[in-house]
Amino acid sequence: MHRDRQNTAIYPGSFDPLTNGHLDLIARGSRLFDHLIVSVLVNTSKQALFTVDERVAMMAEVFAPFPNVEVDSFDGLLVEYAARRNASAILRGIRAISDYETELQMAHLNRRLRPETETVFLLASEEYSFVSSRMIKEVIKLGGDVAQFVPEPVLRSLRARFHEKRYIES
Ligand code: ADP
Repeated sequence: MHRDRQNTAIYPGSFDPLTNGHLDLIARGSRLFDHLIVSVLVNTSKQALFTVDERVAMMAEVFAPFPNVEVDSFDGLLVEYAARRNASAILRGIRAISDYETELQMAHLNRRLRPETETVFLLASEEYSFVSSRMIKEVIKLGGDVAQFVPEPVLRSLRARFHEKRYIES
């Protein structure tokens, strides 16, 4: 069958910071869609560790080897951003029932707002199902090693941020 339109999906999130769980989902998503836009939500109400520009820069480095993955940022309504980017799907990950409940509400809301955008869910891989950005920040703040949970550029930025902080505090 001939398709003349690219199949584009958006994977939105805070990515503060990107984890190996996100990375796994993006690698798997990049095999399902022609073009995957990983987009950082500009959320002024959430207290973030890294600025949007810092997150985008780290992610651009991580996804340089993925030719069909683009890193971007957006604010405002997700479905309007999807329309602007000609995306037919929103990709989200589900780790546990707790994710499912909030994801279900968001997917229903987004369908009401723009029925032509489908939300597609991928289950987190078992080995990453407990990994979250919040958990990474807690572990590194308490002096733990997070090397196994985040990609190299993120690890570098986390170490720089927390070593700077310890240096300033001491
Ligand atoms: P948000 O603040 O929008 O939840 P996140 O960056 O925390 O943004 O997550 C973005 C998406 O990635 C969500 O759909 C979330 O469920 C999913 N996700 C987060 N961590 C993982 C993981 N370890 N494995 C798979 N999916 C994940």
